[in-house]
Amino acid sequence: MIIVLKPKASDKDIKAISDKIRKFGMAPHVSKGEQRTIIGAVGDERLFNQDQVLAMPCVEKVLPILKPYKLVSREFKKEDTIVNVRGVKIGGNKLVVMAGPCSVESKQQLLIAAKAVKAAGATILRGGAFKPRTSPYAFQGLEEEGLKLLAEAREETGLPIVTEVMSSVDVGLIGKYTDIFQIGARNMQNFKLLKMVGRTKTPVLLKRGLSATLMELLMSAEYIMSEGNHNVILCERGIRTFCDHTRNTLDLNIVPVLKKLTHLPVIVDPSHGTGKADLVNPMARAGIACGSDGLMIEVHPNPVEAVSDGDQSLTPKDFAQLMKDLKPFAKAAGRTL
Ligand code: PEP
Ligand code: MN
Repeated sequence: MIIVLKPKASDKDIKAISDKIRKFGMAPHVSKGEQRTIIGAVGDERLFNQDQVLAMPCVEKVLPILKPYKLVSREFKKEDTIVNVRGVKIGGNKLVVMAGPCSVESKQQLLIAAKAVKAAGATILRGGAFKPRTSPYAFQGLEEEGLKLLAEAREETGLPIVTEVMSSVDVGLIGKYTDIFQIGARNMQNFKLLKMVGRTKTPVLLKRGLSATLMELLMSAEYIMSEGNHNVILCERGIRTFCDHTRNTLDLNIVPVLKKLTHLPVIVDPSHGTGKADLVNPMARAGIACGSDGLMIEVHPNPVEAVSDGDQSLTPKDFAQLMKDLKPFAKAAGRTL
């Protein structure tokens, strides 16, 4: 249920309504907009006593949220959510570019990549320390050593970092280092993991599962938000289709649909979406053209030597060129880069 408060409602009123919602055995989620505050009452709706809530003087109206996802929906929050990561705003007019290697491999590799992406205009550094690999014999990541290197690279460049968490067991450790938790495609429906990151205050980048529907993606975001963490960023990274000319099929259709249904920021990952370095540039431009709030791009100092995803990784030079090529597309979409 959504409770719309009168414009002059005070913090005391918000607390009184929140307490009442808790009394019903439901959870209150407060969203303070420019004009007015609304409170979502989430849980078993049979427990909600509408008459009691309407009787409170600061309440203007009570509306049901008809969609199965509640906090994620535009009904709950009309304005776009802007996730602030150490001063970098994700979801505002300025597009965000998260770039860096697929895997953190060494101090030298990471620092070269970090400095290069920063110089070209990226505002967030990516790098995997815990890697979800198809083969158990493939490189699994440097784990905590990799997290330390990411923190060092942040120190050196000032770029906030995003790195993947694969298991609920690692949320505490990775949370000590990262600025954004990445939930990878293979874990989009790891509900225990979603709940664990939902109980932290660290922003979460949620990647769409390999064969997840729009509804499944939004319900996974709802898992995170329902635990109290409203700083969620969605990412389209390509899905499985019959097409074998690319690693995945980048489903750009989902971007405008998501932007309509949810207030959460949406970014596009053309690196995993295509699996091919020469397709990253055109699909990154397309991602901006269709309304995404930013991009995730894999960059490696020497892609042929990369331990993972070398085929789709850009060289620092190609990345710098990409950032230049994106400028007119950003402008045409009414955004800055
Ligand atoms: C990655 O970002 O390196 C990654 C493994 O992504 P995905 O979960 O989308 O495959
Ligand atoms: Mn990768």
